[in-house]
Amino acid sequence: GVQRMRPFGTTIFAEMSALAVRTGAVNLGQGFPDTDGPPEMLAAAAEALRGGQNQYPPGPGIPALRAAVAAHQRRFWGLEYDPDGEVLVTAGATEAIAAAILGLCEAGDEVVCFEPYYDSYAASIALAGAVRKPVTLRPGASGWYEFDPDALRAAFGPRTKLVLLNSPHNPTGKVFTPAELALVAELCQEHGAYAVTDEVYEHLAFTDAAAPHIPLATLPGMRDRTLRISSAGKTFSCTGWKIGWASGPAHLVTAAMRVKQFLTYVNGAPFQPAVAVALGLPDSYYEEFRAGLQQRRDQLVAGLSAAGFGVLPSEGTYFVTTDITPLGGTDGMAFCRTLPERSGVVAVPTEVFYDDTAAGQHLVRFAFCKRPEVIEEAVRRLSS
Ligand code: PMP
Ligand code: GLN
Repeated sequence: GVQRMRPFGTTIFAEMSALAVRTGAVNLGQGFPDTDGPPEMLAAAAEALRGGQNQYPPGPGIPALRAAVAAHQRRFWGLEYDPDGEVLVTAGATEAIAAAILGLCEAGDEVVCFEPYYDSYAASIALAGAVRKPVTLRPGASGWYEFDPDALRAAFGPRTKLVLLNSPHNPTGKVFTPAELALVAELCQEHGAYAVTDEVYEHLAFTDAAAPHIPLATLPGMRDRTLRISSAGKTFSCTGWKIGWASGPAHLVTAAMRVKQFLTYVNGAPFQPAVAVALGLPDSYYEEFRAGLQQRRDQLVAGLSAAGFGVLPSEGTYFVTTDITPLGGTDGMAFCRTLPERSGVVAVPTEVFYDDTAAGQHLVRFAFCKRPEVIEEAVRRLSS
């Protein structure tokens, strides 16, 4: 393969899910729910499949889904996007992220991101021939994950093309605070940089988080330099459908569209109308979804603490990170490779999401987007 992809082996999610299948372990590694999403959405997909919506949809996505994406952002975040020209449907958030980076970065341009970062970021940046400038999140004195503001300032420079911000954040479960977002916004404007925001967990900031989720695009001066990305996978428990979207000013959406049309052209015809139905569900759906995940977070956190893990705060997402040093571990990768055999549970070593691997070596991520009985069984295994 090509030089620029050589550092990237098999994604950790594939490795750990294969290990779960091979050992019969409870899989709290890869983040996917083990129950189906809203029945109205499933019925709409079945109807679309039987009703002949099986050919190429329009390039930017079907009008009903683009309208639903725009209406959803108006309802929850007060953001206004024109469904014609400011919304692009993509093959999951993953394709939106890749298309944004490939469409906006010249070779040598710099992308500021926070590490640990979702693993596709580094690969997409490498594919574009761009350079990642990671800023490290660490558990701070407050107990929350934090970054050094001076490190963020220092990561910006004359070649900064964009900042890639994921909040609520995978794998830490951090929700960026208003002050942190304000600094990101200030630096983007000072350096004439764009922001690409990965908000796939936008409905999973828990009620006891340090702050509610705030889209960066809602900050003064940011709407017209931010490409906002989200996806149906997490919010509607359909990670295999791969329906995502990007919204922003026409110039940024067009840049991503230009790439998307040659990556996949279009995707997911019968799933698009179904996701449009899901986006229109009443507020109660979203509230119950969040409350359910928050409850399962509490269940897993209690179990991991009882089993002796050093549990770090999870303010959102599907995930909680733990420090394995109280258990005598130092190397999360070795810990996760042997955990299925030792305890019958799969987790993900957080170090694979860092450039500064020392910062994440002792951390291990667990997913709680599972049925309560599955979490209970995992906890039982980890405690014995
Ligand atoms: N970004 C983050 C932070 C994620 O956790 C995920 C899902 N694992 C994605 C992007 C990818 O989303 P999708 O499945 O819609 O491509
Ligand atoms: N986003 C999910 C996770 O972090 C899985 C994504 C994937 O497998 N590529 O676990």
